[in-house]
Amino acid sequence: MSAELIDGKAVAAEIDARAAEAAAGLAKSLGRVPCLAVVLIGDDPASDVYVRNKGLRTQAAGMRSIEIRKPADTSEADVLEIVAGLNADDGVDGILVQMPLPDHIDANRVIGAIHPDKDVDGLTEASAGRLVLGKPGLRPCTPSGCVLLAERAMGDVSGKSVVVIGRSILVGKPTALLFLEKNATVTIAHSRTKDLPALVRTADIVVPAVGRPEMVRGDWVKPGACVLDVGINRIPAPERGEGKTRLVGDAAFDEIVKHAGWITPVPGGIGPMTIAMLLRNTVIAAALRHSVELPD
Ligand code: NDP
Repeated sequence: MSAELIDGKAVAAEIDARAAEAAAGLAKSLGRVPCLAVVLIGDDPASDVYVRNKGLRTQAAGMRSIEIRKPADTSEADVLEIVAGLNADDGVDGILVQMPLPDHIDANRVIGAIHPDKDVDGLTEASAGRLVLGKPGLRPCTPSGCVLLAERAMGDVSGKSVVVIGRSILVGKPTALLFLEKNATVTIAHSRTKDLPALVRTADIVVPAVGRPEMVRGDWVKPGACVLDVGINRIPAPERGEGKTRLVGDAAFDEIVKHAGWITPVPGGIGPMTIAMLLRNTVIAAALRHSVELPD
């Protein structure tokens, strides 16, 4: 048996297209298209690529994209002022501050300053609280992408046992809560978990979100299980030439693909879903703020 590959790129393109349709519909009621503002402080090359891609995908979906770029020595007070300005701007529906921020800026304070109704990254305390309390709100993007792909692959995940490896605020915890919201039975593993391989073997769905290349081995995964690999790790690839690298996930793809039911590749699995869910959140934020109904 060989696992079915979950094509995150294809699903993301579908979500983008639906966001574009919804954005066009909203434009009729709002008199303008939904707008996402992204703030980038500093010149981290990876962040620069992410921000550029977010802008391009936003525009491709027919929405307005604002990019605010400031040098690395921008003060925390100035960043807070930028966020306050975007909060107050009625023409802006979603605000995302690209992480990581330079060391002299308190990321929690900046995230905390984003108005929860515009928090398209789903990272503010208000958004986290709404998720824990089961109230409607904007959900974090990568975790929502995981759940959506699991449902696409397996259908209803109610009653499935899920092991999420990692408990970060960005990925692990919200992923676990979102699966719980879907009535799955969820266990969160982390660096202190005892006998992780045995725990993972019990799972119908495994979500490695650790940042350790190919940590989850083939014999950890139950035959027929679904593996949603969040990890993105760059490793040396001397076979491609001197100094070359390649991306791998937290799961040993070649070992797992032989007997799992479904697996997301890295790259091309969970990664593309993150921006797709960001666009979806921008549309949802615009609709919620203006009390406009969205089609399903
Ligand atoms: P963090 O470093 O914040 O969290 C890693 C988690 O893994 C921690 O909870 C840690 O446990 C746990 N962990 C570390 N070592 C082990 C171990 N040996 N066994 C079990 N658990 C362990 O990372 P993030 O959550 O931010 O990201 C995780 C991965 O996902 C990274 O590779 C990142 O690049 C990728 N990522 C991918 C995205 C995408 O779009 N696909 C988006 C965001 C992240 P403890 O809490 O005990 O220290």
